[in-house]
Amino acid sequence: MPVPDPDPTPPSRRVPSRRKGGAGFFRVAVLFLLAAMAGYYLSEQMGWRLWRDGEVSREFETMRTYARILIPAGSGARVSGKEAADAAEAAVRRVNDLMGPHGDLSDVARLNASPAGVWVEVDPLTWRVVMEALRWNRLSGGAFDPTIGPIKSLFKFDQSEHDNWPDAAALDSARKRTGADKLLFDREGMRLSWAVDGMRLDLGAIAKGFAADQAAEALMAVGARHGVAEIGGELRVFGGKPGNPPQPWRTGIRDPRQRPDPEDPAGAGLAEVLELTDGGVATSGDYESYFIYQGKRFQHIIDPGSGLPVEVKPGSVAGVTVISPDSCAAADALATTLCVLGPERGRRFLEGQALGLFSRGVRIIMFVVGNEAGDMRRLAFTADDKGNVTMSEEGKDG
Ligand code: AMP
Ligand code: MG
Repeated sequence: MPVPDPDPTPPSRRVPSRRKGGAGFFRVAVLFLLAAMAGYYLSEQMGWRLWRDGEVSREFETMRTYARILIPAGSGARVSGKEAADAAEAAVRRVNDLMGPHGDLSDVARLNASPAGVWVEVDPLTWRVVMEALRWNRLSGGAFDPTIGPIKSLFKFDQSEHDNWPDAAALDSARKRTGADKLLFDREGMRLSWAVDGMRLDLGAIAKGFAADQAAEALMAVGARHGVAEIGGELRVFGGKPGNPPQPWRTGIRDPRQRPDPEDPAGAGLAEVLELTDGGVATSGDYESYFIYQGKRFQHIIDPGSGLPVEVKPGSVAGVTVISPDSCAAADALATTLCVLGPERGRRFLEGQALGLFSRGVRIIMFVVGNEAGDMRRLAFTADDKGNVTMSEEGKDG
């Protein structure tokens, strides 16, 4: 007897029953997914990447110049290249916000608007830079001075010819409002104050180097082991280019009297190509910010001794590049200091600091104006193990 079909749907319209084993496949897929997630989590914890970001380079305007961040492929960062660049950019912008001359967030702007005797509490980051600036002021016997603002603001360093020179009364008043000894500080409260009205803090000689250091640190904080941060020519690199072994980063030192060729940035106009795995490189010179008065050229660096901008003349520093093994802020401050001091006083200053500088691997390349025609002398400083510093002239291209 035929068994009656229990399903009233005609056989042609029935939905085929699930293939045997479908539930098993689903289970395998879920297990596979869980294993992949666990593997990803563990590899992240152990600092490996399952995939590699391509190189990310970021350029933005800040501190009245351009900043560039480079995160190479295989940097080792725990986040995407974009997120790493975001972190580095934020670090640079923070330095600018706190230490630039303007803006609601600027400690420098608040201090500069404060009359004598009023304490201004500053961010720990600003405090660090101010303390570092004051340290260079002491080391340099006052040549480096972050309070030259009132003198600087009497001049306009716009690369053009000027007919006027500030009158003696204005210069005298500005000098009285300059001097790091009149910047008072309260360590406990991280507060700063002026001893005299109308003073101005100017961190322009150190903040770009510090910001490059901060950007590099932000990259390292997200796990990057290789990277580059450059702000207006002040450079901080770390880890070399990824490779086995890592290859050094390359950067050019400009000849102060030659225009770089935009078509060939690695060629003409360069005095030397530096190779560096870790460290900071900073350059100060007389060729970017200056003005001309009665045929004489004055650069944007102020000699606190004379109370005037440093004049470009035979014996003055046309350009100096400092290479520091670890800190761009230090390289930045030292480069500015050497522009004020010039070669011979610079040599004596370096001798006083030889153990702290040369034994740590600091290198200095200095171009000095040789004669009225603008020929350059290139000087190198070396220290012996007793700390005596010798200044020697190198061949034009050597
Ligand atoms: P840099 O390009 O690093 O040499 O810095 C130059 C800037 O530092 C100038 O534009 C001033 O804002 C500031 N400055 C000028 N003279 C001095 C000085 N003697 N000590 C410290 N900062 C200075
Ligand atoms: Mg500097």
